[in-house]
Amino acid sequence: MSSKGAGQNGVLERTIEAIHSHGGRVTPSRLAVITAIVDSESHVSAEEIFERIQAGSPDIHLSTVYRTLEALEKLGVVEHVHLGHGRAIYHLEENVHQHLVCESCGKIIEAPRDLTERLEMELEARLGFYTRAHHFSIIGLCRDCYRRQHRAATPS
Ligand SMILES: [Zn+2]
Ligand SMILES: [Zn+2]
Ligand SMILES: [Zn+2]
Repeated sequence: MSSKGAGQNGVLERTIEAIHSHGGRVTPSRLAVITAIVDSESHVSAEEIFERIQAGSPDIHLSTVYRTLEALEKLGVVEHVHLGHGRAIYHLEENVHQHLVCESCGKIIEAPRDLTERLEMELEARLGFYTRAHHFSIIGLCRDCYRRQHRAATPS
């Protein structure tokens, strides 16, 4: 017996469990927001989450989506990160990763979260600063753009 949205290796179920274990309630708006993030399978802003919810639950307003996202972040089951220059998008906590954004073509590469572990450990050891490096993307050039620019700059 499998229903739509129950896939994703049970991420929805685990997130609901996590809310309960943090003493939170699973309200209809919370469930709608989490489901929208799971179903999107990509990088969604608060406004895009709102648009997805509109079809099924037109009574949930954008302000409710903002408040709900904030509450879910406080419960530790959702986390926002920034792609490129500031745009906030939402991931379920268990899916959070580091983003690499190409400043030339806009390509987004998903990298494992532990990629910045050493940097985080160094900052903690040397400066006593606890970093969440994945909160912002790392900006640079993807392989294709680097090669294109490098080739253009090198006379053959
Ligand atoms: Zn991502
Ligand atoms: Zn932020
Ligand atoms: Zn590129």
